Amino acid sequence: MSPLHPANTSSLDSYWMPFTANRQFKAAPRLLSAAKGIYYTSIDEREILDGTSGLWCVNAGHGRAAIADAVSRQLQVMDYAPSFQMGHPIAFDFAARLAAMSPGGPEAGLDRIFFAGSGSEAVDSALKIAVAYQRAIGQGTRTRLIGRERGYHGVGFGGISVGGLVNNRRVFPQLPGTDHLRHTHDLARNAFSKGLPEHGAELADDLERLVGLHGAETIAAVIVEPVAGSTGVLPPPRGYLERLRDICTRHGILLIFDEVITGFGRLGSPFAVDHFGVVPDMVTTAKGLTNGCVPMGAVFASRKIHDALMQGPEAQIELFHGYTYSGHPVACAAGLATLDIYRQEGLLTRGADIAPKWRDAMHSLAGLPHVIDIRTIGLVAGIELASRDGAIGARAHDLFVDCFERGLLIRVTGDIIALSPPLIIEPDQIDQIVTTLADGLKRLA
Ligand code: PMP
Repeated sequence: MSPLHPANTSSLDSYWMPFTANRQFKAAPRLLSAAKGIYYTSIDEREILDGTSGLWCVNAGHGRAAIADAVSRQLQVMDYAPSFQMGHPIAFDFAARLAAMSPGGPEAGLDRIFFAGSGSEAVDSALKIAVAYQRAIGQGTRTRLIGRERGYHGVGFGGISVGGLVNNRRVFPQLPGTDHLRHTHDLARNAFSKGLPEHGAELADDLERLVGLHGAETIAAVIVEPVAGSTGVLPPPRGYLERLRDICTRHGILLIFDEVITGFGRLGSPFAVDHFGVVPDMVTTAKGLTNGCVPMGAVFASRKIHDALMQGPEAQIELFHGYTYSGHPVACAAGLATLDIYRQEGLLTRGADIAPKWRDAMHSLAGLPHVIDIRTIGLVAGIELASRDGAIGARAHDLFVDCFERGLLIRVTGDIIALSPPLIIEPDQIDQIVTTLADGLKRLA
């Protein structure tokens, strides 16, 4: 019997699982043991369709041989090299490749790449770069960071402070000097929108309100997910991002898009910046950067920001920040191989071709028991259920367990089901997702 067979529960004790109800999980563990294409194999040898690309990260599908080969080769050639005061060619190569495909194209100038080890680290790096930049241009009073309700920006103290998750705010202390825009989730006005929600662009004016409250000269940056992901897939109201960009520009506030989920093809374009045609000053990425198979994050910063920080004595460290694993050679190897696959298979725009099928398939669930909203954009969907007697999340959790037992991995956040399958998904596999979900919803009733 495998040491991790569900029957052998003693071996489940030591691993303190993240973002998991450990005791509940360990009483009835769900364990995956292999993955290929868009399917996992569970430890009891069942095929599970990966409706979530792992955690929104395995965009090119699982088990890509070219990535495995590149990683293995790099491990043999050079496993690690110091990231401070030393370099290695592959990190420069990967940064140059990313710069050549940077969000918004060459005119956007988002082509200076700072590497981190995860999405959380990319976010905290971008927030620190924003404050350092303001100081470098003589705006040292600009230290305030603005996020948004229902935003998710990882779990560093910077990320939770600009994030909008009540459980982070209730349990952990926040950075001083942060504030939040209101979220854009509005079922009364926007439920079952196809395409971007029509109502809510004016919510961007919250930033004007915060400028009035705090003074523009105290605000360094605003960070938003172009499409909020982890808190339930919330596409922005039409015109919202444009309006936010405009207010930032008028007040000298940097705009950061957190594209940890939307980056690398999720919306049917390489980045959300390309999808919406709105150019921020920095973009944070992770997940699809390496197809999720080696941890890595990256910040795309504008040349304006980079160049301002490159002033001062040449021997001086321009940005006093970095990680042991910044530009890790093995992660860069995985990333380069991932970019090759994206290009060869046209995956960064494939979502646009398949989005109409995806949208119609998802919206066919309207009218099923408990479904109170369906939201899709690119190859991502949020299906919101009515909560059961005030027990938030209980109904969606039941559906999650039922789907897993019947061969589909979905993600739930509160009573919202989030779907984000690998970009290689085929139409019949979309049908399989819909059939499994529809059956599950009927059984819940
Ligand atoms: N930002 C966003 C928008 C995310 O979705 C996530 C992860 N879901 C993060 C940051 C944090 O990334 P990580 O878990 O790699 O630290």
